[in-house]
Amino acid sequence: MNAKEFNVLKRELSENNVQLIAVSKTKPIDRMRKVESWGHSIFGENRIEEINRKAPLLPEFYQWHLIGPLQSRKIKTLQTNITLIQAVDREKILWGLERHFQELNHVQDILLQVHIAEEESKHGFNLEQVEKIMSSNEFLQMKHVRVRGLMGMATFTPDKEQIKAEFLSLRHIYEHMKTTDELDQFNILSMGMSGDYKLAIDCGSNMVRIGSKIFGPR
Ligand SMILES: *Cc1c(COP(=O)(O)O)cnc(C)c1O
Repeated sequence: MNAKEFNVLKRELSENNVQLIAVSKTKPIDRMRKVESWGHSIFGENRIEEINRKAPLLPEFYQWHLIGPLQSRKIKTLQTNITLIQAVDREKILWGLERHFQELNHVQDILLQVHIAEEESKHGFNLEQVEKIMSSNEFLQMKHVRVRGLMGMATFTPDKEQIKAEFLSLRHIYEHMKTTDELDQFNILSMGMSGDYKLAIDCGSNMVRIGSKIFGPR
């Protein structure tokens, strides 16, 4: 993508009040600086090692989103420089993050990942699990992890109706949980990637994670 195409994408998203996460996983620093020169500095990576390696080499104003699954043994390597951890997909990880960020005296924003795809390889909770977690005592007592919303990935399929149904199911869970949030901090619905982001926006997404469309194939 060149600067002009990027601006068209940014305008399309901002007209819909959708935030763009430029997914820079596996891409070198100089490609990220190019995107930065187009006026964008919010990036998504799916491995914590890659954030820890790249962040010291780039300006402090960069915002980092961890979009890939987190293993519990890696929690201790998390620093306080991640704007949003998007793919919390197990209770064990949630409580582990609370303990870790308590030690670091930091409040970490996260999203719960919901399983909407038919593929088993995609991670996440279902509605009942999200409800159970968010009404549990442990959850209500968490002080160092703040759940800002939900994230999901649709099935990799050409069937637009199926993708739409999956996105709408996530939207439904999001709206349902949102009604229980008095502080209105639960306000992020992250869905949509290069191939399906337009459909995701039609279905109510307010954050898209776009990689290959911006950076080219991996
Ligand atoms: C890689 C990745 C993306 C971006 O995928 P593209 O198809 O390259 O846009 C989005 N979300 C997650 C969780 C990813 O791992």
